[in-house]
This record gives sequence, C-alpha cells and structure tokens, in this order.
Amino acid sequence: MDFTNEDFFKGIILFGLNNATYKMGLAQTLLKASRSKQNVIYWGDLAESYFDSYLTRLETNPMPQQGNPNRLTKMERIVKEFQLGVTNRNEAIKKVADTAFEDVVPRFQTIGTDKRIVADYFYEIDTNNKLVLKDTLLNFEEDQLDTLDSEIMARWGLLEGAFSINQSDFKLANDIREIYLKDGYDRKALTNNIPFLSGYQGNTCFYCGEPMGSDIHVDHVLPRQVVSHDEIWNLVLAHKDCNLLKSDRLVGKHFIEKLIKRNENIMGSNHPWKAQISNDLGTTPRRRAMSLQRHYDNVKTVLGQYYWGGTESYNPATDPFFRRLITVLNNK
Ligand SMILES: [Zn+2]
Repeated sequence: MDFTNEDFFKGIILFGLNNATYKMGLAQTLLKASRSKQNVIYWGDLAESYFDSYLTRLETNPMPQQGNPNRLTKMERIVKEFQLGVTNRNEAIKKVADTAFEDVVPRFQTIGTDKRIVADYFYEIDTNNKLVLKDTLLNFEEDQLDTLDSEIMARWGLLEGAFSINQSDFKLANDIREIYLKDGYDRKALTNNIPFLSGYQGNTCFYCGEPMGSDIHVDHVLPRQVVSHDEIWNLVLAHKDCNLLKSDRLVGKHFIEKLIKRNENIMGSNHPWKAQISNDLGTTPRRRAMSLQRHYDNVKTVLGQYYWGGTESYNPATDPFFRRLITVLNNK
C-alpha cells in the first residue's frame, strides 16, 4: 500500500481515542516548525510554541479540553494561571516543559491503537532536550501545511464540542475555577499538620469515624484541584482507603457540617491557626459557617454530579467526634 506523509499525519490527527486535545496542540506545534524548516526543536522552544497554541485556543470563548468535567487539563491550568497573572510567561513555559510532554510527545506517533506504523516517523525524541524532526515532516509543501492546519482546527473543535456535552454549565464552572486559581498556590507538604489536626478531630477518620492507625492521610475536604490551596480550615485526617475512595469528589453536606464544627474546635483554642481561619472565613461562628457553605456551593457548581456521600457504614449519629468534650463545648 502506498500512503503519503500527509496521509500519515492526518491519520495521527483523525484516528484514535482522544481523551483530551493534547495531540492537536502538538500537531499544530510540529506544523509551525515544519513551516520554518527547523530540523531540531529544543525542549524550551517546543514548550513555548505549544504554550502559544493553547493560549490562542483558550483566549476567547474557552471550551473544555478533556472529557472529564471535573478536571482541568495541565494546559488549561497553566494557561489560566498565566492569564490571571499567577505566573509570568517564562514560568508558564517552564511548567509546560517540565510537566506537559511526558504523555503526548511519546504517544503522538500512533494511528488509532497502532504504535508501529508511524513510530519515529516524523520525529525522534531526546527527552527533556530536543525533538529531531525528519524530512517526512519538513518536506510538506505550503498548501499541504494549510490543509493539515485546517484539519487540526476542525478536529480540535469537534473534540471540544464532544467534551462540552458532559458539562452542564462550563462557563460558570470556569469562572468559579478562576476565582480560586487567582489566589491559589502550589501544593505544600501537608504531613506536618497531622499532630495538630489530630488534636481537634480526635484520633478517628473524618469520613468513616473509625479509629486511625498509622495510615493517616491529610485530605482536602473541598478538592484541591478546585480550591487550589492547602488552608487548614479545609484539611482533615482520614484513612488512606477512605481518602482514595473519596478521591477529588464533592462530599455530602453532613461532612461540611462536621467540618464547620471541627473548625470551631480550632477557634476555641489559642493556636496561631485561629487567626488564619478567622481571616479566611470570618470573625464569628455564623460568618465562618456561611463562608464555608459558600465555598461548598461553589465547588458544587464546578463538580455537580461528581459526588461522594461517604462510606456505606458511616452514620453521623454514631460518630464519636460529635460526642467529644471539645466539640460539645465549642459548638453550643
Ligand atoms: Zn476512614
């Protein structure tokens, strides 16, 4: 059989299961390099070009870049952080170079599920250093490049359309995510909070109420991937299993009520975190409860159906947390 380089490139773009749009971004980046007859792209330049493809794509009327409505792709997050001024251009491009290529660069040269037919066909990879582009890519004529470019744009739009079917209110969810990303920061180490949190929660798991052993995990009640922070008012201790089971889903309202009470336990102390919580949520118990409820409603808008009500056996009525002296005293 006689296939042209154009056939193969189209094959890469058009066939296969696309769980996200990464391949479209890389295809566009490769065609840009082909137009300028570059036979080597260094990692930093690849990152810059790829970043610019997404920046342009997401600039006006952004659409979801993957099928799971509860998450943002790495590129959506990086572009958003840049647009909000959380990172500058160089930082954003460095994040792309460090985190965005590990899947798409090695997987790109696949048609459907066939990994052999176009393996190393358009480029060879020198990971974290450069791509060496081959004549198969560099020899495209101007009009072929135009055709391929428009194929990419069409396919990219189709994927976004398909992904947005799962999203009930993408625009609103997007706006809420931006509010949190704007004040967000990179993940901190959380294990040093365990002794402190344990004192106010009791030595039982936040989600199942059973005693804890040595497998203690620090969990973000409102998922970190939405709130983008590690503030103490949102952190609890849980079994590793319970933590994994909950994952990054929206929890039931009874857990928010429990979190409000747990935070009041901290407020009843003289720990320095007290001032931080008061700063973040409000100066009175009522204001703090309302702020937390507002954050919960925001996260609900973003996560919607992606819900976890708790382990089967959990019953707030028998949870020892509510019978602890400090809980009773601080939540009168
Ligand atoms: Zn548990």
